[in-house]
Amino acid sequence: MTEQIYIDGKFYSKENARISVYDHGLLYGDGVFEGIRAYNGRVFRLDEHIDRMYDGARAICLVPPLSKEEFKEAILETLRRNDLKDAYIRPIFTRGVGDLGLDPRKCPKAGVIIIAVSWGAMYGDLYEKGLTGVTVSVRRNAPEALPTNIKSLNYLNNILAKIEANEKGGDEAIIFDIRGNISEGSGDNIFIIKNGRIRTPFVQYNLNGITRGAVFELAEKLGISLAEANLGYFDLYTADEVFVTGTAAEIAPMTRIDGRVIGDGKPGPVTKKLMTAYTELTRTTGTPIYK
Ligand code: PMP
Repeated sequence: MTEQIYIDGKFYSKENARISVYDHGLLYGDGVFEGIRAYNGRVFRLDEHIDRMYDGARAICLVPPLSKEEFKEAILETLRRNDLKDAYIRPIFTRGVGDLGLDPRKCPKAGVIIIAVSWGAMYGDLYEKGLTGVTVSVRRNAPEALPTNIKSLNYLNNILAKIEANEKGGDEAIIFDIRGNISEGSGDNIFIIKNGRIRTPFVQYNLNGITRGAVFELAEKLGISLAEANLGYFDLYTADEVFVTGTAAEIAPMTRIDGRVIGDGKPGPVTKKLMTAYTELTRTTGTPIYK
């Protein structure tokens, strides 16, 4: 069976899933998206993802053509149509079809797309070995230019970071903000551990990750100290452990950065403890797909 993709209330096979070349999502990256995961027949933190997506839409004055409840049902129905229990889900709101000008008032109706695919561990054996991170020269879009919590369809800033990481032979980029502090990865948040304490950049300067939020909860439960902080190269290079978090990446240790070894070069005990707790949390909670 080929993937069944939801577009504006109907399902299409992958081959027939098409949108207009006049859609401003394509022409201008005008829209918002999410990355969501389902494990063992449950969607992890579905309401949080939907809230973030609707907040992003609101921030760019995009009116979704469905209520949150209807959208939630559309996501669950997409999973059912594709017979999925473990999945990566990519919902998208586009500004919709307009003319070649960028004025969103020319786009009368927002578009809705939901893609759901079967998905395993994003970084394969790197959860045991650790990722190689590289700091990149491109800076994170400033919140004054593009509010960092809008998960905008325009990911060029992140793509530029990824290109640089690829060129330098890294698995993931470490992006700094325009103030010179560490911001996040190209598709994940970053955490640094020193002397048993976890620190992560202030949320104003990166995407307020839902996995990041789960790590705050888990750290509290496990009695590990965690605080937001301004962090720089020194903190990275002298860390005992570094890990990144994201819906796709989950919790992934980073054991090499800019050719330097972090800690003893192996995933550390605090990271491992959180990885185990996160696996447990994601596999036992969430919105059931099948009633
Ligand atoms: N930062 C960026 C730039 C991202 O693309 C993502 C992935 N959505 C994250 C952080 C992590 O967010 P979440 O944990 O909600 O997936």
